[in-house]
Amino acid sequence: MRKVVKFGGSSLASAEQFRKVGDIIRADKDRRFVVPSAPGKRFDGDTKVTDMLYDCYASVELGEDFSEKLAKIKERYDEIIRGLDLDYSLDEEFEIMAQKLKEGAGVDYAASRGEYMNGKVLAAYLGYEFIDSATVIRFDEDGQFDAELTNRMLAKKLESCENAVIPGFYGAFADGTINTFSRGGSDITGSIVARAMKADLYENWTDVSGFLVTDPRIVENPEAVDMITYRELRELSYMGASVLHEEAIFPVRKAGIPINIKNTNHPEDPGTMIVATTSRKSRFTITGIAGKKGFVAVTIDKDLMNSEIGFCRKVLSVFEENHISIEHMPSGIDTMCILVHQDEFQEHEQVILSGIQRAVEPDTISVDADLALIAVVGRDMRQTRGTAGRIFSALAHSKINCRMIDQGSSELNIIIGVANDDFEKAIKAIYDIFILTQL
Ligand code: ASP
Repeated sequence: MRKVVKFGGSSLASAEQFRKVGDIIRADKDRRFVVPSAPGKRFDGDTKVTDMLYDCYASVELGEDFSEKLAKIKERYDEIIRGLDLDYSLDEEFEIMAQKLKEGAGVDYAASRGEYMNGKVLAAYLGYEFIDSATVIRFDEDGQFDAELTNRMLAKKLESCENAVIPGFYGAFADGTINTFSRGGSDITGSIVARAMKADLYENWTDVSGFLVTDPRIVENPEAVDMITYRELRELSYMGASVLHEEAIFPVRKAGIPINIKNTNHPEDPGTMIVATTSRKSRFTITGIAGKKGFVAVTIDKDLMNSEIGFCRKVLSVFEENHISIEHMPSGIDTMCILVHQDEFQEHEQVILSGIQRAVEPDTISVDADLALIAVVGRDMRQTRGTAGRIFSALAHSKINCRMIDQGSSELNIIIGVANDDFEKAIKAIYDIFILTQL
């Protein structure tokens, strides 16, 4: 077996956490390549090193003296080094960094140092080779990640290497200028490394025992999901569920490599397997529930709309011209409904409404604000009778009015719209009917 292991910020926030990580890696010789995040929060209210770096860079930009802020960041690493009794120093690295910041290195360079420095310490602690991601992860001139070139460069580098630490979150342009992924991007690096080394498994170590059926801030102690497909995860992440960076799925998906979400603080827990496809039934009829607040539904009615060629296109162009992305579009015979983010929409509301009026001359247009969307996702839904019925009876029993329904043709999910104020209550009701009654 060949495994890539990625550790999140909280797994590497202190010397104590580093020791747990060291034990996990040494417990399995297949764990050959390690992708670290920057040190995260050690306790509630603590600050992540990445946030400290952005703050430090803000001072650089203002022309202020940033030495104190940088010294505080260095202290986070020194504390780890001391706690591990390591004979290692980052003094020189921090001098180089201060110099580069003075010379005008950009914000991405500053942010990337969190992972870079942590990778250095981890490599020294494990006795592994350190590979600077700037040399193997490439972005093109438009700032897009260059998946194929990276895959070739990285695969070649890893071929000659038994064990290595490859810091997460950043890469570089062809001229060596550092560029980062979006926040949480170390998950993407882990996935890229897994693809390049043709790993059998990508282990993503974090501080929860897997992907939870729903948001623990809404339902107390929700069950963990044992297995989920990439597609189900994509649906749920899109609707706000967070365990992995959304884009982390793509590289491993291409190579058919499963991801195992594991808990650094409870390595014995099986965690969640994220797979391409499975014949295994999910434990419950549904796999997960996620949702977001703050949508507007724009409903357009016009008699004989269906026979008017180009009607939808004309309406959609109005949204496109105003750079508004459309989230969902349930429609009926003479009616079309478009769901968009409220904050984006309200900025251009009147321009869009008059644009639609001009484009298709509808009988009526109505807007319905403060909607929340909830996605109920499950690969087994297709074969199970009554899933929708159970959702709606749960909502009715909780006295929640369902304002919109949209079932994707894949039958992988059912999206429902409720008032923002009913959001939490609706999620609890759906959780209860599917999970609690099935336990
Ligand atoms: N350190 C970066 C962040 O806080 C990237 C990561 O941890 O994945 O967003």
